Amino acid sequence: MDMDVDGASRPKEGKAILVILVGAPGSGKSTFCEEVMRSSTRPWIRVCQDTIGNGKAGSKAQCLSSAASALKDHKSVFIDRCNLDREQRSEFVKLGDVHKIDVHAVVLDLPAKLCISRSVKRTGHEGNLQGGKAAAVVNRMLQKKELPKLSEGYSRITFCQSESDVKGAISTYGSLGPLDNLPHGCFGQKNPDSKVQVGIMKFLKKVPAPDAAARPDGSGDTTSQNPGKNDYFHKDVEMASPILDNPNLESKEGESQGVAFDGSHASRFSLDDAPTLAFPSISTSDFQFNYEKAADIIVEKVAEFTAKLGNARLVLVDLTHKSKILSLVKAKASEKHIDTQKFLTHVGDITKLHSTGGLNCNVIANAANWRLKPGGGGVNAAIFNAAGPELESATKERAKSLSPGNAVVVPLPASSPLFVTEGVTHVIHVLGPNMNPQRPNCLNNDYEKGCKILQDAYASLFEGFASIVRTQAGQSREENENIVKKALKLQDKSECHSRNNLTNIDQKNKRDADHGSEKSKKCKGIQDSFGVSSDSRDERVDSEHRRNGGSMNKAWGSWAQALHQMAMHPEKHKDDLLEISEDVVVLNDLYPKAKKHVLILSRTRGVDCLEDVQKEHFQLLKKMHDVGLKWARKLLDENASLVFRLGYHSAPSMRQLHLHVISQDFDSKHMKNKKHWNSFNTAFFRDSIDVMDEVSSHGKATLKDDDKLLSMELRCHRCRSAHPNIPRLKSHIGSCKAPFPAYLLENGRLVHAPAEP
Ligand code: AMP
Repeated sequence: MDMDVDGASRPKEGKAILVILVGAPGSGKSTFCEEVMRSSTRPWIRVCQDTIGNGKAGSKAQCLSSAASALKDHKSVFIDRCNLDREQRSEFVKLGDVHKIDVHAVVLDLPAKLCISRSVKRTGHEGNLQGGKAAAVVNRMLQKKELPKLSEGYSRITFCQSESDVKGAISTYGSLGPLDNLPHGCFGQKNPDSKVQVGIMKFLKKVPAPDAAARPDGSGDTTSQNPGKNDYFHKDVEMASPILDNPNLESKEGESQGVAFDGSHASRFSLDDAPTLAFPSISTSDFQFNYEKAADIIVEKVAEFTAKLGNARLVLVDLTHKSKILSLVKAKASEKHIDTQKFLTHVGDITKLHSTGGLNCNVIANAANWRLKPGGGGVNAAIFNAAGPELESATKERAKSLSPGNAVVVPLPASSPLFVTEGVTHVIHVLGPNMNPQRPNCLNNDYEKGCKILQDAYASLFEGFASIVRTQAGQSREENENIVKKALKLQDKSECHSRNNLTNIDQKNKRDADHGSEKSKKCKGIQDSFGVSSDSRDERVDSEHRRNGGSMNKAWGSWAQALHQMAMHPEKHKDDLLEISEDVVVLNDLYPKAKKHVLILSRTRGVDCLEDVQKEHFQLLKKMHDVGLKWARKLLDENASLVFRLGYHSAPSMRQLHLHVISQDFDSKHMKNKKHWNSFNTAFFRDSIDVMDEVSSHGKATLKDDDKLLSMELRCHRCRSAHPNIPRLKSHIGSCKAPFPAYLLENGRLVHAPAEP
């Protein structure tokens, strides 16, 4: 780009300029500023809202004042925040008049795909917008993109729609000396109406937009602050002062507090995707615990846990409009300067937080009774009612009763209405101390004991939530990438109802996006299979093990439940099953990855995958292996040219332990991609024989669940030759006659037809 450098008319002292960056997270705004500042001889200041509060996120007001003082010092300024709409930019533009300087906009209008994948991949982002949540946030932000126009008050606008445009702009600004000017006008705009990827939004949003008007207490919610936008995620509330400096929780009753989007790098915006626990006040209503004391304990425990919870947040919920506990807690939280991004209060029905309040809470706490039974009124009755019989049976599997001061985490079955409509994946039952003489175990005003129990109750509750969060956070970067890839792939496809009802956690736990997309074609059938009746079979429950770890807190998406449902209710799936016995069911894989591909499904509840397998499951593994061998032999009788391998995926995509019995031709239209191939042809596939050995000698199976295995190059499983893509690999294996590698020929890992006599 040419510079308008006219030596004769140069002023003695250079004039500062103000450059407003405009772009979604991941568009490269910070990198742009850093690169220019590295090479420029002009004094620059970067004003970044994500770091302006002593290295933490601050307010727009802070940005304005910092920009103003830099301009006063004749320094040029970058405004490094998203600034995606006119309103967000207008006050910065006004600085131009005040300081008699030129205001420029540099628009990093890069493809959404690129911004998303960068945001997902990055680590250590200043505004903590990274990982799986970033995809949804970036797309949401792009919905409100409004490209700048000269009429807003700029003297120059540079549009960058590709990485090479960005490089050009960096070099233009980077070589701008203290006395140089740039020509006025619009540069580089190719496609002013670039399309926002609404399709991705549809996929990522999944659950129908909440209806603010439908709120039972009529109080409206955060969405009502922004009329015309009925999606909680879309609220666009200007905060005059930084959230962190303003913890006085001044919003009206009936609103969630502490969440606002102000056009900065979306760090606050991303909170809507954060794992969230909604909890009622424990023991204060029916158990008549002193409100002041209870509020102190809530605030103390919240303060302790918010420090440990990463980006997760806690929401204290109360149904009543003028709730005493809510106002006490608000005041005390404010005194303690609790981070209002991590702790909110909300007036509403805890069973309808999403559908009527627009608040996404993946976990809710229940103020339970000691018998862990429905009824009794209050929150307990409401939650059991809303969650359906599924919660009762899932609770039974976890614990029979609860003592005061304890909590129990219960994953919610996908068929529960609370899961489907509210996106709740776990309920944590918690029991507090009782001060009500009409109720069991009354403490007779012994507040020394009572406070200790209430502290324990909140600690157990928050610990339970933290363990769910940890499990979810354990997902790898590759998984995040899969989410994005899948989101992008699906953006233009229409989606069926059940997919629209998946939660964020569903997305996060889709190890194998490809099963998912195959599912989406058939999801009606699967949805049908979710009808769980209350007369569920009395399965063996390994609750102790599950309480101690395993995949207990893994939130399987609703689409990943089909096998589990078949194992639990084979009577409903008779037509699909090849064999039903006490311990296992056998079925043809719905998307066979070879000519013959059968699944042997354990019927033991609580053993969702290999990770859950322990020593006492050895007999189960043996049974599955024997049934697998029987089916391999049966299939060999029909076609003696086949060769079978029996094994487990280290990290399966479908819930319920299942053994693959798969012929080694891999001749199937469903064998479509690298992941499919590598899941059966790398160490990710654990031979049943080896799994049994390991479990009998060390009590557990070795898992090779590094996602790198799934993205390895494609190699023939016989001769190990490498191939660039699946069609080429398939055409090679169709004719490869090389013997199988020695490793596979050992120990009976391959099952052949008996040799001819
Ligand atoms: P994984 O969980 O990765 O061990 O593999 C799950 C297997 O289940 C895949 O081979 C899928 O093709 C198969 N599958 C997925 N959904 C169904 C279904 N509804 N019925 C039968 N097989 C299924």
